[in-house]
Amino acid sequence: MVVSEREKEYKKGYYKDNREEFRKRAKLYYEKNKDGLKNYSKEFYEKNKYEIKRRHSEWQKNNRNKVKEIQKEYRKNNGEKIRENEREYRNKYYKTTFGKWNMIQKRLRRAERLRSVEHKFTKEEWNLKLEKTEGFCPRCNKYISIMNLTLDHIVPLASGRIRTYTIEDVQPLCRSCNCSKGAKVEEKVYGCW
Ligand SMILES: [Zn+2]
Repeated sequence: MVVSEREKEYKKGYYKDNREEFRKRAKLYYEKNKDGLKNYSKEFYEKNKYEIKRRHSEWQKNNRNKVKEIQKEYRKNNGEKIRENEREYRNKYYKTTFGKWNMIQKRLRRAERLRSVEHKFTKEEWNLKLEKTEGFCPRCNKYISIMNLTLDHIVPLASGRIRTYTIEDVQPLCRSCNCSKGAKVEEKVYGCW
C-alpha cells in the first residue's frame, strides 16, 4: 500500500489534535494487556538481544554527553544505593588474597610515585611472611587474622633513608600498630623470620 504524502500529513495532524485521546487509549490498552505485552517484549528482547545491545552501545558512543548527563542524574538520585553496592563489592573483593595483594600494590605504587622509592618483593614472599604470623600481630600479639594485617615499612617511607625496600624491609602489623608507629624508626623489628 502506498501512502501518499497528503495522507501522511493528514494523519500527523490528526494525531497532534487528538494526542491526549491517543495516549489515554494506549494506556488503557497497555493496562488490559500488560502480561501479554511484557511477555512479548521479553521474548522480543531474547530474540534480538545482540542487535539491541549493539544498537545501544552504538547510541552510547554517539551520545557521550547525553550518557554522562544521565549517569550523573542517576548517581544523584541513587547515591546511597550506589555507595552501598560499591562498599559491599569492595569488602568482598578485598577479602580475597588477590584483592588484598592488589590493594597493597596500589599503595606501594603510590608511595613510589610520591617518594621515589621502589619495592622489590613478590606476592609469594609477602604471603609467606603473612602466613608465619598465623594471624597474630607480631608487635602487640593480638589475634586479628591474616587478612587484617597491613604492610608496614620498618624504616618509614617518610624518613627517606631507604630507596629500595626488599622483603626484609617490610613487616606485617595490625592496623593500629602500623598507625601508632607512624614516622618513627623503631629499634625492634617484627615479623622478620
Ligand atoms: Zn598490633
